[in-house]
Amino acid sequence: MLRDRLGRPLKDLRVSVTDRCNFRCFFCMPPGTKIDFLPREDLLSYEEIARIVRIMRSLGVRKVRITGGEPLVRAHLERLIELISETGVEDIALTTNGYLLPGRSGLLRSSGLRRITVSLPTLKRERFRTLACRDVDLGKVIEGIEEAKREGLEPVKINMVVIRGFNDDEILDVAEFCRERGLTLRFIEFMDVGTLNGWTLDKVVPAEEILKVLRTRYTLEEVGREDPSETSLNFRYSDTDLTVGIIASVTKPFCRNCTRIRLSADGKVFTCLFSSRGVDIKSPLRNGASDKEIEDILVKVWTHREDRYSEIRRDLIGKDIPKVEMFRVGG
Ligand code: SAM
Ligand code: SF4
Ligand code: SF4
Repeated sequence: MLRDRLGRPLKDLRVSVTDRCNFRCFFCMPPGTKIDFLPREDLLSYEEIARIVRIMRSLGVRKVRITGGEPLVRAHLERLIELISETGVEDIALTTNGYLLPGRSGLLRSSGLRRITVSLPTLKRERFRTLACRDVDLGKVIEGIEEAKREGLEPVKINMVVIRGFNDDEILDVAEFCRERGLTLRFIEFMDVGTLNGWTLDKVVPAEEILKVLRTRYTLEEVGREDPSETSLNFRYSDTDLTVGIIASVTKPFCRNCTRIRLSADGKVFTCLFSSRGVDIKSPLRNGASDKEIEDILVKVWTHREDRYSEIRRDLIGKDIPKVEMFRVGG
């Protein structure tokens, strides 16, 4: 097993298949910001991604999460899932804003997708429109979630990034929505990823506060993490088998068990969500490098890794360090 300088194994890969998105959530890709999206020819092809996945699998990767940008805006995503399935990776998951999901779940599942996470930062129709900066119907996201469940993309997980003054009044509503439908909810603390989203510490609703709100209505028992590398700290409701989790990247960082590597849409690998630079894999790949040569690059990247940004964040707050945007590196 490949380990980094802090002894953490390489186990999970997040693949960003595009930096484009049909939404403009202010906490990720704020409206009005000038963004230079990648030209088509810079995107890795599905075959190139699958080749990198195969090599990473030989180095220990067991889970692949497809993300972006919005992964469902890239054409024929099912083909990529098929190709990744053929590499023998055990677990393939997808994170999506859900808007283009209705009508797709059956095919995604038969292509090899095992699990899906849908982001649902609000249940208020007007708020949703304002957030997306588009005339979009929240009903389509809900339809997509219900269809994914019917098609067996279990467990269907819901991500809710909580931002003070934006949606912190909806914690109980989203919890109830998920309980009624048997969905596994994960609250996410607002993170200072990238440089565009206007993050400040006072907009973060700490995990303890989220938990306190939940406990005004529900009895919860802490069940910890399913796996040490899991991002979410989980709690079980006393009256169901369902769990609810909190990803407390800001107030309770989990870098010491972070086993994630990220591949950007233009073929760079990043060993941390907060890395300022990635290592280019696409150029060697397109210049005829053998699998062994690609493997050597990846081994070097991982064995030199010492990222733990969230754990040392307090020293870095206010410092002007270069950071990469979440929609580029894959959330
Ligand atoms: N477009 C897809 C979506 O929204 O699910 C996938 C990419 S998005 C970058 C992945 C996840 O990151 C989403 O659940 C989103 O809510 C979350 N996210 C984006 N910006 C964030 C931030 N600044 N802090 C915490 N979570 C964030
Ligand atoms: Fe798009 Fe997802 Fe970012 Fe929202 S969070 S702008 S849906 S990539
Ligand atoms: Fe992993 Fe970096 Fe996040 Fe820490 S800050 S959990 S090392 S991605």
